[in-house]
Amino acid sequence: MSLRKSWVTSANSAAHPFPLNNLPYGVFSTEDEAPCCGVAIGDMILDVTAAEAAGLIDLGDEPLFDAPMWNPLMEEGPAVWTALRARLVALLEDGANERAKVEVFLVPQAEAEMHMPFQVSEFTDFYAGRHHATNVGTMFRGAENALPPNWLHLPIGYNGRASSVVVSGTDIQRPWGQLKGPNDDAPRWGPSARFDIELEMGAIVGMASAGPLSVQEADDAIFGYVLLNDWSARDIQAWEYQPLGPFQAKATATSISPWIVTKAALDPFRCETPAREVELLDHLKDCGPMLYDIDLEVGLTPDGGSESVIARTNYKEMYYSSAQQLAHHATSGCPMNVGDLLGSGTISGPERGNRGSLLELSWGGTEPLELKTGETRSFIEDGDTLVLKGAAKGKGYCLGFGDCVGTVLPALNDPFAKS
Ligand code: MN
Repeated sequence: MSLRKSWVTSANSAAHPFPLNNLPYGVFSTEDEAPCCGVAIGDMILDVTAAEAAGLIDLGDEPLFDAPMWNPLMEEGPAVWTALRARLVALLEDGANERAKVEVFLVPQAEAEMHMPFQVSEFTDFYAGRHHATNVGTMFRGAENALPPNWLHLPIGYNGRASSVVVSGTDIQRPWGQLKGPNDDAPRWGPSARFDIELEMGAIVGMASAGPLSVQEADDAIFGYVLLNDWSARDIQAWEYQPLGPFQAKATATSISPWIVTKAALDPFRCETPAREVELLDHLKDCGPMLYDIDLEVGLTPDGGSESVIARTNYKEMYYSSAQQLAHHATSGCPMNVGDLLGSGTISGPERGNRGSLLELSWGGTEPLELKTGETRSFIEDGDTLVLKGAAKGKGYCLGFGDCVGTVLPALNDPFAKS
């Protein structure tokens, strides 16, 4: 696969995140206009809501893009997903004979505000990166017991909150909570002092199911991927997590990047999961290459300062693919819905510079990071802006995800203070 040329010339550069090969799906608005569906091409957005209304896109009896979300397209299923992508390529490729009709529906990205690209049905987060689980387990339980006994056999997960999933650019307020004290019997109430990020990918379920799924069926049901930041209050988490897992530590917010990169676009970047230390049970075995070679990085910018890249890793470091996570999720017969979001789990690599959370980067706060500004960080400070970036790099082109950005604001006044 090489760069496919578009008549939108900004899309034809090797370094541009949104070439014709990508065509990611988002929801945008411009000044005074209601949000609508759009496709990124170069530094422009094709307004597909308007293009459909004008008859340039016609995929069925009912309009698919008259609501500001991509769920209605997902509900149509894979044949229509493929038909839309083929139609978009036909409208936007170099030499397209409908160029003049399409051109009027292009909007500069610089003038657009991005919104949630889909309605999140439910959110589940996993713990499926081996380096992350080993690092965290070593900190909390010692190197001998780092991985729980089930870890190599199934992707551990918990049910999170769809209600606090927000789009990139949304400010994040530092949460209050019950914090672990120096002794296990003396918690205190306060703003989290160990607020953190988790660098993850989010898989979006595009097909509903009502019973167990094979790994292949699960892979077929995934519509696309976003970058995902699972904001985590480590001091709340440390106190609350046993025995049912994270709860309020993860409930403040989860940020996602604004553009859904489709599974179809990512197909040339498929790669194998790492070698298995123990054989998986048959129902979770790989059915082919189901991870993706996607370079990831995390930047931290202090208020008024310049950005330091604090971590670099790759999605292929995951032990379990999203398809295996979805298959495991449905083993009980748990119905899955269009718009379900599955967080991969924190993506860390083998070296210190590959760690996808500050908890790991600062080793629980004992080894603070040095930033370019000369400051140090163990956890997030008020005013820090965190950005996740992702790009799959092909020969002469790349597929970008659009940044996943969030600035942490100071905690509000104590919500329970007596005035
Ligand atoms: Mn997480």
